[in-house]
Amino acid sequence: MRALRLVSCMSGWKCAIAGCGSTFGTVEGLLAHQVTDHDAHTCEVCDETIPEGYFAIKHGLEEHTRAEYVRYYDGDAAAVREREEVLDAVNDALDPAVLKDLLSDERANALDTTEPDPVTTK
Ligand SMILES: [Zn+2]
Ligand SMILES: [Zn+2]
Repeated sequence: MRALRLVSCMSGWKCAIAGCGSTFGTVEGLLAHQVTDHDAHTCEVCDETIPEGYFAIKHGLEEHTRAEYVRYYDGDAAAVREREEVLDAVNDALDPAVLKDLLSDERANALDTTEPDPVTTK
């Protein structure tokens, strides 16, 4: 579960799961993509299966202690903080009702056509 940083910027949300890099106009689109297009993640602490990406981070930080998380995912305080920031950013932007709707009728694939914003200056 490394390299899961989600990048939010003017152009939208980028899936940072290794080897992906798809960009989505909405955070709901990104999360639906992670649930439907990526293999599930098996929690290294409790063996539960969770969708990769945001949900895996959320599970790791909310279901387990920071100490467990660091031990099982060979992270450190900085890695935990980075993931907490990801959770905060997603939670701020996320409309759970929209995500639920996306996942319920599997329209997530339609969002794959989101065009990257050509203006990427930071
Ligand atoms: Zn992806
Ligand atoms: Zn777990």
